[in-house]
Amino acid sequence: MTTLGEAMAFARTKIDRLDARLLLEYATGCTHADLLARPETPVIGPAHDQFAEWVARRAAGEPLAYLTGEAEFRGRLFQVSPAVLIPRPETELLIELALEKMRGLAAPTVVDLGTGTGIVAISLALECPAATMAAVDLSNEAISVARNNAGRLGAKVDFYQGDWFAPLPGRRFDLIVSNPPYVAAGDPHLALNGLPHEPQMALSDGADGLECIRRIVAAAPDHLNPGGWLLFEHGYDQGEASRNLLTAAGFKAASTFPDLAGINRVSGAHL
Ligand code: GLN
Repeated sequence: MTTLGEAMAFARTKIDRLDARLLLEYATGCTHADLLARPETPVIGPAHDQFAEWVARRAAGEPLAYLTGEAEFRGRLFQVSPAVLIPRPETELLIELALEKMRGLAAPTVVDLGTGTGIVAISLALECPAATMAAVDLSNEAISVARNNAGRLGAKVDFYQGDWFAPLPGRRFDLIVSNPPYVAAGDPHLALNGLPHEPQMALSDGADGLECIRRIVAAAPDHLNPGGWLLFEHGYDQGEASRNLLTAAGFKAASTFPDLAGINRVSGAHL
């Protein structure tokens, strides 16, 4: 018979302490306090097997969020699956900038392109209830994860399956936001930190990293109201190229904004 204390000691030889604690809590239903105050509590068969399997998978590089099926973003818990990218804290910058634009309008219309988990559309819908929010993804599996997250969190978002603007013919918005795939094909980063377990279609455009950004920027003017904004996330070295694309497409005041780590992370402009 294994105890909570023994299970932790076993896991600690293979994975990070915090990961071990969280997986043990998920597997057994115990709390952090139980773990500290009653390490002699027995871990029963099914929970023990689940925990041992998760520790092995985590040790092999699978991200924690895919094991627990959940990830936190901006203080909310989102369901995740290997069909969607795990939320990154730096995406909060996109939310902050979008909210700034939305708060200047009484009833903004907004679309999130490539919604994945739905974190962007759902955070914006919950934090600006006057907005009308649409979200698009090419992946049916992503749409079902995002729809489920919106339902669980009580966000009103209209979801569309399709290729960027394709499901929105003739529709115009006050704001377009996107966290598109922007990692270049063959970038060594794709082989690190659990990224091989994430959907490659959500990470990389399979080209130079700017292909999706080019498509979104080129099509956006036909889907924006006069004065409307486009804001999108990108890689640390894609700010200048993004601003050039925006200006070439007729946008004004193209700007790039750094995330909390000081890395250029979001560019945007208005018509
Ligand atoms: N920022 C992510 C990473 O580097 C990539 C996210 C994306 O491609 N949209 O892991």
